[in-house]
Amino acid sequence: LPVASFDCVVFGATGDLTMRKLLAALYHRYRDRQFPDTSRIIAVARSALETDGFRMRAEAALRQHVSPANLDEETLAAFLALVHYRQVDALSDEGWEALVATLDERPGQVRPFYLATSPELYGPICQRLARHGGFSALSRVVLEKPIGHDLASARAINMAVGEVLPESQIFRIDHYLGKETVQNLLALRFANPIFERLWNADVIDHVQITVSEVVGAEGRVGYYDRSGALRDMVQNHMLQLLCLLAMESPISLDADAVRDEKLKVLRALRRFEPHEINSFSVRGQYVAGAAEGRPVPGYLADIGSTERSMTETFVALKAQVNSWRWAGVPFYLRTGKRLPRKMSEIVVQFRRPPFSVFPRDQHDLQPNRLLIRLQPEEGMRLEMMTKEPGPGGLHLRPTGLDISFEKTFGQRYPDAYERLLMDVVRGNPTLFMRRDEVEAAWDWVEPVLHAWAERPEAPRPYVAGSWGPTAAIAMIERDGRTWYEGIE
Ligand code: NAP
Repeated sequence: LPVASFDCVVFGATGDLTMRKLLAALYHRYRDRQFPDTSRIIAVARSALETDGFRMRAEAALRQHVSPANLDEETLAAFLALVHYRQVDALSDEGWEALVATLDERPGQVRPFYLATSPELYGPICQRLARHGGFSALSRVVLEKPIGHDLASARAINMAVGEVLPESQIFRIDHYLGKETVQNLLALRFANPIFERLWNADVIDHVQITVSEVVGAEGRVGYYDRSGALRDMVQNHMLQLLCLLAMESPISLDADAVRDEKLKVLRALRRFEPHEINSFSVRGQYVAGAAEGRPVPGYLADIGSTERSMTETFVALKAQVNSWRWAGVPFYLRTGKRLPRKMSEIVVQFRRPPFSVFPRDQHDLQPNRLLIRLQPEEGMRLEMMTKEPGPGGLHLRPTGLDISFEKTFGQRYPDAYERLLMDVVRGNPTLFMRRDEVEAAWDWVEPVLHAWAERPEAPRPYVAGSWGPTAAIAMIERDGRTWYEGIE
């Protein structure tokens, strides 16, 4: 449904995220007539630009990041006419009155403030907006990840923003929650009783979540070297996926009902004791190898460093949820750069048959698996054993019941940011993280971060193009299980 007219203020408008993702997301929603022409997009950054100059940059970005099939000249010109630029330095006191005066020209508009800047600026921006009267009851502030670097810095950001805005107006974005497949997890679990009946330790052997990238640490090198894979991927995206997989049924789809259940999972995650870190986690860093058939340098060369770096570009973890439903069911998480394939995939592996009527030497009964693929192509697959056709006897092989969402529904899948931006305008925070969730997630990863920081050993090397350090394979094989290497 189309949303109400809005004035969306984007801080960090000259940056990578705005240019690559946010403008394209807004353009697509506009093209689909999801918001009215009376809306405005007010781009803000320190660069000395006029509106015309910014529109030229925005146009170039849209031509690069929107597929030609979706880019018609008339819509593009009409969209760019909605874009305005204001020069404001978040850390100075100048420019705010002019910005607020622009907003006050249309007092009844919904006012999303998208903070696509570094997180240290979230507090200062919100405090200055409040001081200059920029917030109304229709204001919503969107905070990009990462919310902090650890629990203390996350709390400091939450506190600074929370001093000037109620929680109901703060939208902490995790774009994974805007992906169709991730929302489909709710449909899969709570609209299909056949799965929910099986969703427990009696039937499920273990769960794997893999988010692998082929790219190295190119691009946002400084940010990455300060963060590493645990902070960049696990603390937010992967724990959110784990929560949606493991949570109990919410009493409704209200934002707090869903987030209460996710929070319970985060609080039920078994905390690592310092002496267990090496058994339950593996960190790695890629060295020179190959990606997509061409030689590529190692991490240190990618970040232009000659010294050693303690930053992990790979992490594997064995998580456990302490609850009746999940007792004894490990959740293996694995993410890294310079792995063989780009994929985000969840594997729910069911227990093996308790007894086989088929002769063991002829039939290797594979366990049933439910594969949930977030990328490259969103879909699901249920792997089952079936009889091979033909009169030659009873030969079994694993086959899959496949659902490819794009093929099934025959339409373009909107980018996660499109959905989430419109939810902000609607004022629906269900797919955004609440303050206590973010802090509980930091609380769980902190013992690992501390243990790593205190140890002198560097991350384990792995060759670019491999599935990470052998220790990650050993970690799961010690439990008699193997990593699933993706849907062919
Ligand atoms: P970026 O390319 O470095 O852009 C930063 C933006 O902030 C620029 O527009 C910069 O513009 C502006 N800025 C810097 N200091 C400012 C100040 N004092 N006052 C006002 N504006 C200021 O960063 P990014 O990659 O777009 O990332 C932005 C945020 O999104 C970060 O928190 C990042 O972690 C997060 N994020 C990014 C991505 C991504 O793919 N890029 C993905 C997920 C999350 P001027 O220099 O013109 O002021």
